[in-house]
Amino acid sequence: MPVSSVVAALPKADLHVHQEWAPRLDRVLARREGRRPFDWRAHVRRLLELPPGMDRLGRIFDLDASLPPTGASEDDPETAIAVWADILEEGAADGAVLIEVRFGVTDRALARPDFMALFREAERRVRERYPRLRAEAIGYIGLRPDPARLREAERQMETCLRAAREGLGGVDFRVDPYDAEADPALWSVAYRSAERAADAGLGITVHAGEYSTANLEAALRVPGLRRLGHAVYATEDPRLLESLARSGVVVECCLSSNVVSGAVLSYEEHPIRRFVEHGIPVTLNTDNPIRVWTTIGREYAVASALGFGPDELFRFTLNAVKASFMTAERRDSLLRELRAR
Ligand SMILES: [Zn+2]
Repeated sequence: MPVSSVVAALPKADLHVHQEWAPRLDRVLARREGRRPFDWRAHVRRLLELPPGMDRLGRIFDLDASLPPTGASEDDPETAIAVWADILEEGAADGAVLIEVRFGVTDRALARPDFMALFREAERRVRERYPRLRAEAIGYIGLRPDPARLREAERQMETCLRAAREGLGGVDFRVDPYDAEADPALWSVAYRSAERAADAGLGITVHAGEYSTANLEAALRVPGLRRLGHAVYATEDPRLLESLARSGVVVECCLSSNVVSGAVLSYEEHPIRRFVEHGIPVTLNTDNPIRVWTTIGREYAVASALGFGPDELFRFTLNAVKASFMTAERRDSLLRELRAR
């Protein structure tokens, strides 16, 4: 994907990026050991030949089993800092001034009592080279109709509330089944958790509407909701699109992720332009950048190729900063820097 000098110079933001522990660790260790990391590009090419739909999403994660064994774990502080610094450095090198990284589900990192201290250390190291960068951490909680998983989600919620006192920025919820209407009782659990999270000062975002319109209406009723991850299918239903526009909620668009994981058939068919036309604020995001072979610079270049001009792309960055889960003080200082440009 060619990146013009104008797009390269734009300040960028990535609000929706998962830590991708195993692939990211492989990349960090490969660099240290002087070997080639796992070839995700070939994997993405193969994925694109599979029928679109949610099965492809599962296949993206299945491949982690093919990664070389490392012996390293999230329990080692230096390894964790190196992995998180790699995420931040990759974005900052592309011009990112804000990156919010998601941790959760199978990650143990968030449960460490020193999690936020280590995350801030990763941020500090990257800021030595890229002083404009700000980074935040977000907890990711999946709710499934299974008592054991629900108890686990309850523990994750407590972990997020504890981390909030150390500076965790927000919580991201996903309610399953993801592509069919989930049990309203499960959504009630999400609503209660979101209320507690919002009371603790955490920002709220929800993964929804990636493969169907299911759950979008329920997601829009989440207390304190500020952002939606994907929401691709909101444009299929005029009524949904209308309530999304009225809500003021920001949509985290993940263009390459949606194409690779089969949520949309092509970049051209992605509804990002329709969101903008309906006055819905959008941001550009990488989601799982290693697994879907992208970077935040590439996402801005793709949006540019879809016809968004530099002013519109810069607006996406401003949308992200305004909708970020930073403290008001950090947000205002970053906004001042951006407006001075
Ligand atoms: Zn995601």
